[in-house]
Amino acid sequence: MLTPNVHSAKIVAETLSTCGSGSPYRPSSQCRACRTHGYDAECRSRSSLGYFWHVTDFHYDDSYGKSGQSCKIPVSNPGLFGTDYCDSPLRLIEDSIRTMAEIKPEVDFILWTGDNAAHVSKREFSLKRNLYVIQTTTSAIKQKFPDTLVIPSFGNHDFFPADYTNGTETAFYDAVCHIWSPWIQEPEQMQTCRRGGFYSRLVSPKLRVLAVNTVFYLKRNAKSKNLTDPATQFEWLEDTLAAAREAEEKVIVSAHVPPTIPSPTVFHWFYPQYQRRYVELMTRFSDVIVAHHYGHEHSDTFKILQRHDGESA
Ligand SMILES: [Zn+2]
Ligand SMILES: [Zn+2]
Repeated sequence: MLTPNVHSAKIVAETLSTCGSGSPYRPSSQCRACRTHGYDAECRSRSSLGYFWHVTDFHYDDSYGKSGQSCKIPVSNPGLFGTDYCDSPLRLIEDSIRTMAEIKPEVDFILWTGDNAAHVSKREFSLKRNLYVIQTTTSAIKQKFPDTLVIPSFGNHDFFPADYTNGTETAFYDAVCHIWSPWIQEPEQMQTCRRGGFYSRLVSPKLRVLAVNTVFYLKRNAKSKNLTDPATQFEWLEDTLAAAREAEEKVIVSAHVPPTIPSPTVFHWFYPQYQRRYVELMTRFSDVIVAHHYGHEHSDTFKILQRHDGESA
C-alpha cells in the first residue's frame, strides 16, 4: 500500500528569528534585547518558532473499492483506509489531512510536493480524470486548512500521461494553476506557474520558498530528454536565487523528484545534463538555500547534496 508521506518540521528560531530593523538572523537573545528598544510587537511576531507541514504523494485512486485500477493484484475485500497492493482511497487522504489539522492546526505554511494521481495505466486514465483528482486533493487540504498558505508543486503523477511534460502543455498548466489560485495569487507567481509549474513565494520577511518543477529533469520523461532548459526554469532559478542573495533572504527549495540516488540503488532520477546543472546551481547557492524538500521516493530519508568535484555541499 502506498500511504501519503506527512512530515512536520520546526523552523529553528536561532536560524530564522528576526527583529528590529537590523540583521534578519539575530539569535533570540538579541531579539529579547531589542524588545527593550520598543520593538516588542515585532519581536513577538517574528522571534517565536515557526512550523510547517510537508505532505506528498497522496496517489488518490478514485476507483478504489470499485474496479481498483491501481491494485497490483485483485483485492476482494479492500480495507476502509487502504490495503496492500493498492494506492490510497479518499478516506485515507482525508483522514491524514484531518490528523495533520488535529496535531498542528496553526502552521506557517504547508509544502505539498505532488503525485496526486494513482499508478493507473494511461489506457484507463484521462486528462479530465487527472484534473478531477488534483481538484479533489486540493479541496481536501483547503477544507481542513482554510486559512493556511499551501505551496504545491507538480509530481510526475500529476501529468497525463504520467511523467510527460516539457512545458508546452499550456492548457494543463493553466487548469492546475487555476485550481491552486487560492494560494498562487501574485501575477508573477501565476505567470511562471502557467509557463511551467514553478514559482517563488515569500513566506516571511526573509524566508522564501521556491516551488520547482523537477519533473522536467526526470529520466522517465521522454518529452524533455533532448532539451537543455525546459520552460527556462534553470534561468529563472538562477535569477531568483541571485535576487534572494542580494536581498539577504534564505530559501527553501520544494519540489517532487529529488536530484539524488534512491537508496540502495545507484542510478540518478535526473538525466545527466540536468543532474549536473541542477547540483552545480544548488550548491553554488548553498549560502542562500537552507533546505530542500522533495517527494517521489515514498520513504523518509536525509541526504546531502554534494557538488561533483566535492568542493561544496
Ligand atoms: Zn509518488
Ligand atoms: Zn513521483
